[in-house]
Amino acid sequence: MDWLEEILIQCPQCGEEYAIQVETAEDGVVEMIEDCAVCCRPATVRVTTEDGEITAVDVVVA
Ligand SMILES: [Zn+2]
Repeated sequence: MDWLEEILIQCPQCGEEYAIQVETAEDGVVEMIEDCAVCCRPATVRVTTEDGEITAVDVVVA
């Protein structure tokens, strides 16, 4: 079983969309810093997981 899920997020700095991989094995809120694939500036990504499904994604300037 693969617990990694790929999601699309929008960079809060340049507005471009890019894909990141998120671990969905544990329910709850996971926060991570991701560098934008386009402009390389960091963003804080907060992912909420319930029953192995991603229910919310928040992206803010790190
Ligand atoms: Zn960007």
